[in-house]
Amino acid sequence: MFTKILIANRGEIACRIIQTAHQMGIKCVAVYSEADRNARHVALADEAILLGPAPSRESYLRIDKIIEAALLTGAQAVHPGYGFLSENAEFAKALGDNGLVFIGPPIGAIEAMGSKSAAKTIMEAAQVPLVPGYHGENQDRALIKTEAERCGYPVLLKAVAGGGGKGMRVVWKESEFDEAFDAAKREGESSFNNGDMLVEKYLTKPRHVEIQVFCDRYGSGVYLGDRDCSVQRRHQKVIEEAPAPNIPVAIRQAMGEAAVQAAQAIEYVGAGTVEFLYDEDGSFYFMEMNTRLQVEHPVTELITRQDLVEWQLRVAAGQKLPLAQADVSLRGHSLEVRIYAEDPDADFMPATGRLDYLRTPVESRFVRVDTGVIEGDQISHFYDPMIAKLIVWDEDRDLALRRMQQALEDYRICGVKTNLGFLAKLAGSESFKAFDVDTGFIERHHDQLFNKTEIDQTRYIALSACYLTLARKAQSANLQDPSSPFNRLNSWRLNSNYAHPYALTHADNTHRVTVMESDNDYLINVGGVEFQVKGELNQDRLNATLNGHQFSVAVFQQGDSITLFHDSLQFECQRYVEVHDASDSGQLGSLKAPMTGTVVAILKPAGSQVEAGEGLIVIEAMKMEQTIRAPFAGTVSEQFFKPGDQVSDGAELLALEPLVEEAKSVAQEAE
Ligand code: ADP
Repeated sequence: MFTKILIANRGEIACRIIQTAHQMGIKCVAVYSEADRNARHVALADEAILLGPAPSRESYLRIDKIIEAALLTGAQAVHPGYGFLSENAEFAKALGDNGLVFIGPPIGAIEAMGSKSAAKTIMEAAQVPLVPGYHGENQDRALIKTEAERCGYPVLLKAVAGGGGKGMRVVWKESEFDEAFDAAKREGESSFNNGDMLVEKYLTKPRHVEIQVFCDRYGSGVYLGDRDCSVQRRHQKVIEEAPAPNIPVAIRQAMGEAAVQAAQAIEYVGAGTVEFLYDEDGSFYFMEMNTRLQVEHPVTELITRQDLVEWQLRVAAGQKLPLAQADVSLRGHSLEVRIYAEDPDADFMPATGRLDYLRTPVESRFVRVDTGVIEGDQISHFYDPMIAKLIVWDEDRDLALRRMQQALEDYRICGVKTNLGFLAKLAGSESFKAFDVDTGFIERHHDQLFNKTEIDQTRYIALSACYLTLARKAQSANLQDPSSPFNRLNSWRLNSNYAHPYALTHADNTHRVTVMESDNDYLINVGGVEFQVKGELNQDRLNATLNGHQFSVAVFQQGDSITLFHDSLQFECQRYVEVHDASDSGQLGSLKAPMTGTVVAILKPAGSQVEAGEGLIVIEAMKMEQTIRAPFAGTVSEQFFKPGDQVSDGAELLALEPLVEEAKSVAQEAE
């Protein structure tokens, strides 16, 4: 077995490979780009080598640099992960030329499967079923058009060198053929430098079912069950599951055997995936073979209880397959979703940003999170915007799906747009539950999946106001004398921390808020709607009862922006402090510390009556003093600090209760 390997990849897959390698006692060398200096895969590795600037072409695709790094660190083998150089025959060859082992199939197999048409020719010879079509070398448009007619419309045109759904066009009728052909050809030329096309019958309601195969150098091959990856957007997988539901045992076995046959036809070694289209009538057709570990391999791992990266390392080191076909047993059901930084409402456009807040579900034997990022990381436009893969397992599909729904609720992200809400809708939809699934699923259920759920904004605003009040109280309780009479006051009064009326904005709506308090009860008025509230805040978890209805929500606050997570809903609002009087300006409107510093004087102790504009407290920082003045007339109900105390920038300094007349006018305004 190798003692040191290099991982020519980044993100979750690099982390995933390092994890297994470490369990096997193998040291790992990471490579990284300038954008990934602080990435998780670098931190997990034993050594890491900088490849170059952020763009992949200048880093993760630099074959010369990767080989140099492997030789420099004494790695014996290179794992390519998926994407980047994983299916690049030139890379595999260059490694071999330098005495390094490519943890993947032989060069010939990569080349054979690199072209969709060449792959079909090989599979045809191996008697693997193909979708009716034409994949010949003659690229004459008229000839391909005649072939299309022979298949019968609709047909699918595919760039032979295509991948990732590019260079593909559905043609519904003959009159659309020429235009579609030219467009797909152009896309093939620009994306893959190859405009050759193949045509096949377009199945209108197929499923994408794929088989995980593994072969060793000694001629043995097994299949480790199947996966269904039919739920797709723009021909890209969204949810994957294993085993593929509702497939008769005999067909399942026939597909598995056909897949091993396909792999053996090209003298395959290592992990591979044979993709099939599965038609409603139970027939299946070879689509393509991916000569690498797939993104969705974890669902297979969970139902087979095998570690596929370990299998890859063993096979690459020259060992035999760990199991024979008869010893492969499947148990339970597994589902995976891909959590992306993207905007489902804008045609799944990739999103970028900083992961300001990131909470993942608790991992167990039922829940697994494969990720390459931590809170604070940046999702940049340089790479695939996948944040994580969330994988669940349970004894059957219904139970697994429930686990998935719960785990999605527990996944919380702020700072960058994600598809979490979309995934929750998908996983929660009755049609997905009933497995009414084919590749047209998302399109067919578009209205339901993209429909904006009507939410009771007032209620979430009240919860946000409750959070703000409790958070502020907790903060001042930390800073002040616990014997303060502040909490012992009876009778309703304006919550002194927010005596000043404020507003919370959500989407384009502004909600005026006032909070009255008595002991630990609050009367929260949101734009005239009153809520009797009790609440408790435990770190980022708010438990609150609004007019007798109890809620448990997670909360993330950053500056004046508040995000509530309730079930699978994410509600954001902004706190907006209104300027009370036209003459108010600058420091006058705020009772917060304008800078980090020291309290040098309390000008108005608790109980003092003050006029608007009077000095209340003096702060000093870097030898400069600043006086905080009353924004309105009132009574200082509490000073949270004493002379000599340190205060941080933005800390609430004191509580000022407005005069009764003022309180009345605030209440009236709210009505
Ligand atoms: P790529 O290599 O670009 O991912 P594939 O050949 O794997 O392209 O096809 C991607 C997806 O397109 C499949 O998962 C399936 O949903 C759809 N597809 C491919 N061929 C057909 C076909 N003949 N009929 C219907 N759908 C197809």
